[in-house]
Amino acid sequence: MARTISVLGATGSIGASTLDLVRREPCQWQVVALTANGNAHDLAALAREFSAHVAVVADEAALPALRDALAGSGIEAAAGQAALVEAAARGADVTVAAIVGCAGLAPTMAAIEKGGTIALANKEALVSAGDVMTAAVARHGATLLPVDSEHNAIFQCLQGNDIAHVRAITLTASGGPFRDWTAEQLQRATPAEAVKHPNWSMGAKISVDSATMMNKGLEFIEAFHLFPVGVERLRVIVHPQSVVHSMVEYRDGSTLAQLGPSDMRVPIASALAWPQRMHTPCTPLDLAAIGQLTFRTPDELRFPATRVARDAVVAGGAAPAVLNAANEIAVAAFLAGQIAFTRIVQCAQDVLARGLPPAPASLQDVIAIDAEARARARELMEPVR
Ligand code: NAD
Ligand code: MG
Repeated sequence: MARTISVLGATGSIGASTLDLVRREPCQWQVVALTANGNAHDLAALAREFSAHVAVVADEAALPALRDALAGSGIEAAAGQAALVEAAARGADVTVAAIVGCAGLAPTMAAIEKGGTIALANKEALVSAGDVMTAAVARHGATLLPVDSEHNAIFQCLQGNDIAHVRAITLTASGGPFRDWTAEQLQRATPAEAVKHPNWSMGAKISVDSATMMNKGLEFIEAFHLFPVGVERLRVIVHPQSVVHSMVEYRDGSTLAQLGPSDMRVPIASALAWPQRMHTPCTPLDLAAIGQLTFRTPDELRFPATRVARDAVVAGGAAPAVLNAANEIAVAAFLAGQIAFTRIVQCAQDVLARGLPPAPASLQDVIAIDAEARARARELMEPVR
C-alpha cells in the first residue's frame, strides 16, 4: 500500500535526495505537499513529476510564477508562511522536514501536531524549539526520526538497547574544509572556500556551519534533545573520512558505530523505511579502498563553536534559540561578503552575552525569541564592514 509523504524544502539538497529515493519506488509513495522558498520553476516541475496535491512557495512574490507553471495540472498552488503551515498540517504518513533554518519550525510543528512520522533534517528547528518540540511530539503521538547522518547513526546504534546503559554518545565531525587551516588563514577564508566541503555536497548554510564547526555545535544540541543521556555523556570527535557517522558506547565497554558512504540518501532511506530497510543506489562502502580511518580531538581554540553550543545547552532556556538565530544571520552576512569568517561564531557569542529572554513555553515564544535575536545580530553586524 502506498504511503503518503510531504517534503518541506523539496528543492534543496535533502529534498532532492529524498525525492530521488521516492522516484525509484513510485508505487510505494503518494506525494501530498512539496514546498520551496522562492524557486517556483523547480518546485512546479517536481510537483508535476510526483503528482503532488499541493505546491507551496514561502515567498508570496513567487506565487504568480508557480500558478503559471502549474496551469492545467490540477495541482493546487499556494504561497506564504500560513500556506506553508497549512500544507504541513494536511498531514502525511511521513513528513520530511528539510527547510533550512528556523524558517522550518512552524511547518514542522504543524506536521508534528498531525501525529505522523517526521523525518527531521531541519536541525535548526529542534535546536531553537527544544523541549517545546519534543513535548509536542509526545503530546501528539508523533514519531521523530533523525535524518541528520550523525543522529540517524546514533538512532540505529540505540535500537534494541536500553538508553539507561549508555556510557557515552560520540558525534563524529569531518572538521570541514578548514580543519587544517591556521587561525590566520581562517581570518581570510572566503565564502567560495567555505562552501566547498571535502566529503558532503550540501546547501550553502550547512556548508558554512560545517566550516565553522557550528554544524557540530547545533548537532550537539540536537543530540541532547533526541537522546536524553545528559550533556556530560555527549562527545564530539573529528573524523576526516566521514565513514563512521557516530557511535554509542555502552556500560559494558561495547561501542556500536554506524558506517556508510557520505551520501545523505542512506540516512534518509533509513528514516523513510524505518523499521524496515529499503534499497538505495548508493555506492557501497569500500573499506579496503579507504584504507585508514582516523580520529582526533576537536581544536576548540580555532573552532570555538562546539564550546559555545555546549555552553548554550547547559544554560538552557532561550540560549539555543538565540545562538541559532544569531548564527543564521551571521552566516548570511558572511555569504554576502559582509563579515569575516571568524566573525560568525563571535557574533553568536556576542548576542548570547547580551542576556537571555525567558525560556520559551510555546511555539509563539520560540518564534519571538528567534526574531529578537536576529534583530540583535543584525545590529551587531552593521558597524563592521
Ligand atoms: P538547501 O539550502 O539545499 O535547501 C533548503 C530548502 O529549504 C530549499 O527547498 C529552500 O527552497 C527551502 N527554504 C529556504 N529558506 C526557506 C524559507 N525561509 N522558508 C521556506 N523554505 C525555505 O539546504 P539543505 O542542505 O537541503 O539543508 C536542509 C536542512 O537539512 C538544514 O536544516 C540542514 O542543516 C539539514 N541537513 C542537511 C544535510 C545535507 O547534506 N544537505 C545534512 C544534514 C542535515
Ligand atoms: Mg550532520
